[in-house]
Amino acid sequence: MDESTVCNWDAHSCQSLLGYGKAVHEGSGCICAYCDLGKAGQDFDMWRQLSVDHVVPTNCIGANDWTIKFPKMSKPAIKKLHAEINKINLVTACNFCNSMTSRMKIGNREAILPKSGYSDAEDIKHPAVQEMLQRLGEQVNDLKEEKRKYVQERLRILELAYAKEVKPKP
Ligand SMILES: [Zn+2]
Repeated sequence: MDESTVCNWDAHSCQSLLGYGKAVHEGSGCICAYCDLGKAGQDFDMWRQLSVDHVVPTNCIGANDWTIKFPKMSKPAIKKLHAEINKINLVTACNFCNSMTSRMKIGNREAILPKSGYSDAEDIKHPAVQEMLQRLGEQVNDLKEEKRKYVQERLRILELAYAKEVKPKP
């Protein structure tokens, strides 16, 4: 294989690894937030199964129309707010944990962002926006813990099933 073949990957087809996911995995050290996959050591086959999980689902944040909720915020300020929210809310999750937790019933949570939005907030420094980010951080911590427990319990059951039904007999 010559070098041009080796480097011929396309970041756009691997967004969750090399695109928007890259910074998330760099921050986590490529370790799954729910099952700790990667903690004991890493290899290519582990890395390629990494994905990005929104700990608090986007619909729970309650922000589908940012320009209506933040009428006074400039586009760069909204971009900055997005980046801040992602920094708090995005974690590395292996594909297994991502698909497991996507089936979790998360329960009724109050949307982080109020329906009315913040009509006078011009940037991220606004106290109401800071307060919202703090609330998001708290919800992320709670939910991360909930998701970890959920995954650990399922892994325990799966391990038993594997030992009993799948593992090759000596
Ligand atoms: Zn995992």
